[in-house]
Amino acid sequence: MTAIRRRLAFWYTVALGLTMLAFGAALYYERRQSSVEELDRRLALEADLAQRWLGESYRVLGPLVPDLSSPALDPGISAYLEAFRDYLIVVDTAGNVIGLSGVTRPLAAAEFQQLAAPLYPPPARSASGTIEFAPPLGAVRYYVTRMSPAGTGVGGLLVGTSTANVAFGPRELLRSMLVIAPVVLLCAAALGWWLAGTSVQPLLGIIDEVEAITDGRSLHRRLAVPLSGDEIGRLVVTLNGMLARLEQSFASLRRFTADASHELKTPLMVLRAGVERGLTHPQTPREIMQGLDETLDQINQMTEMVDDLLTLARADEGRAPLALEETDLRELVADVSETAGMLGEDGKLTVTTQIPDKPVRLPVDRHRIRELLLNLVTNAIKYTPPGGTVGLTLGAGADHATLVVSDSGIGIAPGDLPHIFDRFWRADPARSRTGDRPGVGLGLAITKWIAEAHGGSITVQSRPGRGSVFTVRLPRNGREQTEADGNGR
Ligand code: ADP
Repeated sequence: MTAIRRRLAFWYTVALGLTMLAFGAALYYERRQSSVEELDRRLALEADLAQRWLGESYRVLGPLVPDLSSPALDPGISAYLEAFRDYLIVVDTAGNVIGLSGVTRPLAAAEFQQLAAPLYPPPARSASGTIEFAPPLGAVRYYVTRMSPAGTGVGGLLVGTSTANVAFGPRELLRSMLVIAPVVLLCAAALGWWLAGTSVQPLLGIIDEVEAITDGRSLHRRLAVPLSGDEIGRLVVTLNGMLARLEQSFASLRRFTADASHELKTPLMVLRAGVERGLTHPQTPREIMQGLDETLDQINQMTEMVDDLLTLARADEGRAPLALEETDLRELVADVSETAGMLGEDGKLTVTTQIPDKPVRLPVDRHRIRELLLNLVTNAIKYTPPGGTVGLTLGAGADHATLVVSDSGIGIAPGDLPHIFDRFWRADPARSRTGDRPGVGLGLAITKWIAEAHGGSITVQSRPGRGSVFTVRLPRNGREQTEADGNGR
């Protein structure tokens, strides 16, 4: 779920980042436009001021350029222009410079020419523009206008200023955004993470609940429907409907298995009795005997399978109560070890047994634990080639007892390990059910059920070609688990 949370937080941050980028770009463009307009207004005002000054001076003093042979403004008039705080160039009708502001003077000749260029020829009407100078001067915004009211001798004037003089220009805006954006994005990421967390929280709860229900034991349980009535609520209602249908189909499946196994028992018994009668009859011909022998083998195998199926079906329905009684497990282990010794003789297997000196008393269902041990031991014998060893160890801990069945047999491939306790699962399905290693794949499923019905567990460690070790842990306080449950299976 953290994957969804991470994805949501990521896309939330990306979306906010893109929004900020678009907003920033729009702001930058708008700011640039308005600061240029502001600058133009200021320049036009200054040009107007200079124009008025020259016009007023002409009205009072007459021609502004008294000596046309060496064009220059009257010193009294040009002194006022000197004080202008921006670039100011005044030219006569022939294009000669006749007046300058103080800040224009330090410009290098090339820069001055570039700045004055819009005055050549003197403009017909007012205009503004930008001239890009090499650093450090940078961009300069200018405004040129014709000087009609100044009378003979004056052609036009230009006012200019560096765009860097704008109080809060687009550059500053960009710089501020570059500082602010990471902080905002970081906050957005944190907020997104938190928001995504709170949105997926109900889903996490549902996953936990569904996991608890579908572990196979609690299909009767239902998820709590949230009052919000949102999509999560609909999901819960849908899941509950699905659980109800699942519970129903599992119940029918269990019922069918239990009924079918039960119904098969009697005909099988009759079959066996018939075959046994044939086998013991003195007049049965030898070739028929062989056939009957094989039939009896099949009937036995089938009876075993039907019994196993019935056991599991009853366990699933919770109808397989354990008859718990305080038992010294040493007796059970010794008993099974004896059987194992006999079974192992055919395969020339060495069966070893380790039993503690002191009693290991536990409340268990003797019959079931014996079945568990026999299942493990017969498997160990079945899957160990001649000459190998099979070990049976009983261990006693403070709060539990362990039953370990080990062998030096063929082992189990790592990929098969998760499946060996599944019903009807066999490592090699192509292998005959009746050949040298007969079986139907129900033994370990029953073994696991018995261990768990006692409140215990079963684990396996195995390496192909090296053998397997099955360990059953039985808690000493398993008394409360008196009945096998497993409704979901
Ligand atoms: P089966 O009737 O086939 O023995 P089980 O449920 O007892 O069914 O075992 C399931 C499968 O697990 C077996 O078919 C076998 O492949 C594997 N298995 C069980 N015990 C052992 C073992 N001691 N060594 C190797 N494989 C084993």
